Amino acid sequence: MADKVIPPEELAKVDYNPGSRDWMDPTVEFRRGIYNYGAVPASTAYLGQPFSKKWQPIDDDWQLPDNWEEIIRNGFKERLDKYRSLKVFMDICVRCGACADKCHFYIGSGDPKNMPVLRAELMRSIYRNDFTTVGKIFGKLAGGRKLTKDVIKEWFSYFYQCTECRRCSVFCPYGIDTAEITMMGRELLNLLGLDIDWISTPAANCFRTGNHLGIQPHGFKDSVDFAVDDLEEIVGVRVDAPVNKKGAEILFVVPSADYFGDPHYFGFLGYMSLFHEIGLDYTFSTFASEGGNFGLFHSSDMMKRLNSKIYMEAKRLGVKWIIGAECGHMWRVLHQYMDTMNGPADFLEAPVSPITGTRFENASSTKMVHIAEFTADLIKHKKIKLDKSRNDNVRATFHDSCNPARAMGLLDEPRYVMNAVCNNFFEMPDNTIREQTFCCGSGSGVGTDENFEMRMRGGLPRANAVKYVQEKHDVNMLACICAIDKATLPPLLEYWVPGVEVCALHELVGNALVMKDEKKRTTDLRQEPLPGMEVTEDE
Ligand code: SF4
Ligand code: SF4
Repeated sequence: MADKVIPPEELAKVDYNPGSRDWMDPTVEFRRGIYNYGAVPASTAYLGQPFSKKWQPIDDDWQLPDNWEEIIRNGFKERLDKYRSLKVFMDICVRCGACADKCHFYIGSGDPKNMPVLRAELMRSIYRNDFTTVGKIFGKLAGGRKLTKDVIKEWFSYFYQCTECRRCSVFCPYGIDTAEITMMGRELLNLLGLDIDWISTPAANCFRTGNHLGIQPHGFKDSVDFAVDDLEEIVGVRVDAPVNKKGAEILFVVPSADYFGDPHYFGFLGYMSLFHEIGLDYTFSTFASEGGNFGLFHSSDMMKRLNSKIYMEAKRLGVKWIIGAECGHMWRVLHQYMDTMNGPADFLEAPVSPITGTRFENASSTKMVHIAEFTADLIKHKKIKLDKSRNDNVRATFHDSCNPARAMGLLDEPRYVMNAVCNNFFEMPDNTIREQTFCCGSGSGVGTDENFEMRMRGGLPRANAVKYVQEKHDVNMLACICAIDKATLPPLLEYWVPGVEVCALHELVGNALVMKDEKKRTTDLRQEPLPGMEVTEDE
């Protein structure tokens, strides 16, 4: 955690004057509150990463290997040859500036190097200098910069002040995806052993136990059993929640925070009550006990390795297809990369809902359906009974998590569900939702306590939009479908918009769901009184 938390009224005074420093000057300042801790060597070594070492960004000496320049140049060249997109993104920016004010980190910090165009330029300038003829001849005059140790520090600073949210790409007339440039920048830094801990340690945990949190198989089973007990206490129905059931029709994959974190857990109770109610033949898996994929924030190789367990486990258990829970980066990985990276999953069937008969054509290739699509389909076919009034204490808005919204176009299904389970649903302003949604400011592995100031800066535009609906419609709840959002939006809102809580979409579904054998419900899934069930002092 930062030594001293700057009060919101101070942090909100953002200076947008560009300053006098030449952008080519790579000098950066690392101070507490705006950087992430370096990875512990045990984790990087476990992952087989090069140059594992104990280090921190505030150290003067980053202990770079002797041939660090050669490593970066070779790594850069290899990626330019391998990824056509990187080469194109290095070449085609016309510096029109359309992306300049679209990044939440620029809006929250006023730092010009947080403009997407300039963030990319930090790498592009090295590309020009080292890989283009004009750059080799004219150097600085052609926008080229020399690769120095300070440039490496600058990359580290600004590629970890990008949450790979892709908002800027929505506005770029050339479709330049700065998130992909950031991903390449981070890959190059990893070649020098410059990983951050909140990516490497969860990834290492994932290889050891199947999930980011390092929960072992029996721990996962205990968590599920605990949830079954909780649910019985709340709704009076003992649900079946199979783990590692061979021959089940569907494998259900959740992010580990769903069975561990708050408020994620209440959505987990929601899934379990829903599946029980419709009699779904499904199973959890202890090996694929994590859908989230911190490899996405590290390197394509790590992303691929972590993702592979989902298909491996689907094969081992002999399921027909897969449902994935509420998670952001899990969906980015599987929607954009999984099929070509670890597929084709020919051993699975194209998903067909056993309850409605709907064939999910959009998932015929990946064989994996998003829980919001699945639930929206159940509601559309009137297969579940819902009592919206059970959520009448909630005045909700919906945060489009960057990855489901921009990476997979999941825009209408969550809203369809929201409107079916909640009487009081209000949208934030148009330019802050759907494809243009603002990031939580803490995605892509930067949601750490030590990075608190930068997270609050990056989350300012999202918080502003929440504040708008709080003031206009008395909104008191922000629903979302991403595990990182559920972990990092609560402190963000507590900081900028006190009085607004965060929930999972399926928490609201679970509250509204009327189960056939339920007892008289008095509490919601948080075990707080349902509307009208509050106990007064007289009682
Ligand atoms: S991807 Fe998101 S965080 Fe990164 S530069 Fe673009 S808008 Fe900013
Ligand atoms: S919008 Fe695209 S072309 Fe224009 S400055 Fe940004 S990245 Fe370059």
